[in-house]
Amino acid sequence: MDPREVLCSVMKVLHDRGLLNVLGGNASIRGSGDYIWITPSKEPKHMLRPDDIVLMYLDGSWVGRSRPSIESKMHLSIYRSYDWVRAVVHAHSPITTLVYDLGVGIDLGVYVESKVSIPCVEVVGRYPPGSEELANAVRDAVSKCPVVVLQGHGVVSVSNDIFKALNAIEALEDICKMFLLRKLASGVSLKT
Ligand SMILES: [Zn+2]
Repeated sequence: MDPREVLCSVMKVLHDRGLLNVLGGNASIRGSGDYIWITPSKEPKHMLRPDDIVLMYLDGSWVGRSRPSIESKMHLSIYRSYDWVRAVVHAHSPITTLVYDLGVGIDLGVYVESKVSIPCVEVVGRYPPGSEELANAVRDAVSKCPVVVLQGHGVVSVSNDIFKALNAIEALEDICKMFLLRKLASGVSLKT
């Protein structure tokens, strides 16, 4: 399948799942040479077409109708550092972001889904979107774990397969929802 079509599909899933708003988030796939395919900046993410996807070389130059994502520094930094990474997905998962901001110490091991989809989670602090500092912090965190929560911002997931990266983001959001609901429910009597 054309990687550009795959990226359009991934962004629509993220939007439809409430994991990003129309102008947020980004994703990329490594090409067969020194380049990646990456989502554009500012275009509505739920209705991307293959021609909207930007071809970006690992040296930072690019070809496309729109500018590459504001987070392209982060994507490039990860691809330059880890040969095994074939895809990077970044979403603004609201419940995941909330749970990790609360610092309540979620135990992923309680949920079966985590064993299949999420080996671990690393957390990085607050850095400006699109900044070199954010790119460096996420790149370094990926050396420990392929799923990284950005405090107050969202999640970055990397993999050798973009659907595994997407699956981890979806699974983490579901686990965080269950965790939060369990916490809330534990304080409520269910007796009638
Ligand atoms: Zn973001």
